Amino acid sequence: RLQQRIHGTSLEINLNALTHNYNFYKTKLDAKTKVMVMVKAFAYGGGADEIANHLQQLKADYLAVAYTDEGLALRSEGIRLPIMVLNPVQESFPHLLQHDLEPVVYSLQFFKELAIFCKGQDKRMKIHLDLDTGMHRLGFEEQDMSQLLSMVQENPQLEIASLYTHLAAADESRHEDFTRSQLQTFTDMCERIMAKLNYRPLRHALNSAGIAAYSEFQLDMVRLGIGLYGVEVTGLYDQHLRVISTLKTTVSQVKKLKKGDSVGYSRKGIMEKDGQIATIAIGYADGYDRRFSNGKGFVLIHGKRAPVIGNVCMDMAMIDVTDMEVREGDEVIIYGPGISLKELAENIGTIPYELLTNISSRVKRVYY
Ligand code: PLP
Repeated sequence: RLQQRIHGTSLEINLNALTHNYNFYKTKLDAKTKVMVMVKAFAYGGGADEIANHLQQLKADYLAVAYTDEGLALRSEGIRLPIMVLNPVQESFPHLLQHDLEPVVYSLQFFKELAIFCKGQDKRMKIHLDLDTGMHRLGFEEQDMSQLLSMVQENPQLEIASLYTHLAAADESRHEDFTRSQLQTFTDMCERIMAKLNYRPLRHALNSAGIAAYSEFQLDMVRLGIGLYGVEVTGLYDQHLRVISTLKTTVSQVKKLKKGDSVGYSRKGIMEKDGQIATIAIGYADGYDRRFSNGKGFVLIHGKRAPVIGNVCMDMAMIDVTDMEVREGDEVIIYGPGISLKELAENIGTIPYELLTNISSRVKRVYY
C-alpha cells in the first residue's frame, strides 16, 4: 500500500500462490523427479531475488537463469541452490567457476573454449549439455555427436551435470508428432552420451506445457517456468493454478467528455457517446504495451472491465469509464486474478511471457 501511494503503480506478488503452484506441479510429478525453476528475466518479471529465496525455502532442486550476471546477482543475495546458466559468454568463465554457476554448453567451439579455461583449475566445473532435437536455437546436433563424445571423454575437468533438450511446441497439440519425435531423439542421444560416462547426468526436457502434456517424459528433472508464475499455456491445468502477480495502479483523474471528443496523442481515441474517461498512472515505460491502445487492452475497476481509449502514453493511459462509478485515487487492476493474460496477449499478437517480463524496473515489486 505504501509503495502504491509513492508511485501509483505496483506489482504485488503473492508468495503463497507461488507455493500453491509449486506444490501443485509436485503432485503431477513422481517423487524422485527433480524440479529446476526458471528464474531468468527477473523471475518472469516477478523479482528474481525474492522468488529464488522463496524457492530455496521450498527446497527446489535447481534454478536456471539466462545470463551469468543474473546468476551472480542471486549468489550475492545468498542463494545457494545449484544454478544453470543458459547462455553464458566466454568472458564470464572465471565468474562461473568462482561462484559455482553451471553453464550450458551448446557447441563444439564453446566446449573447447571452456575445456581450455578449466584445465589446471583446482576444481571441476559442472556443465549442462544442450541437445538440439528440433528447436533449432542452441544445442549440439546429430552431426556433432562423435566429436562431442570424444571431447567429453578427454576433458574430465568438465563434469556433465545434465543433458537436456528444449521442446519447440509442447503447448500446441497440433505439433504432438513433432514433440514426440524431439523426445525420442533426445532419449536416443542421451543413451549414446551416457554409455561413455561412468556417472549418470540428469536428463530433462519438459517445460511447463511439457509437464502438462507429456509427463511420461519427465525423466530425472523438469524445467518449470510460466506455470509456476500462474499462467497456464495448455489449458490443461487452468483450474488448478493461482495467479501470483497483480499489476495495480490508480486513477489520477476522471473527465467528462462529449460524443466526438478526442482523447490523447494523435487524437486516436474518439468518444462514441457522451461519457467519461479515467486517466491511470501506468504507461508504456512501465511495461504497459502501447499496442493496448484504443480498445485492444482493458483493465478492471471495481471488478468491471474498462477498455483503453486513445494511445497509451509513456507514463499514463486513458480508459473509458462511461456509465461506471469512478473517482480519483480508485484502484485499477491491470493484470491479475480475474484477467486472462492469455486473452490480453492475444489481443496484441503476443504471449503472456512478454507481458510479464516487460513490466519495467520502475514498477515496485511488493511481496506478501
Ligand atoms: N527451458 C528452457 C531452456 C527455457 O528457455 C524456458 C523458458 O523459456 C523454459 C525451460 C521454461 O518454459 P516455460 O516458461 O514455458 O515453462
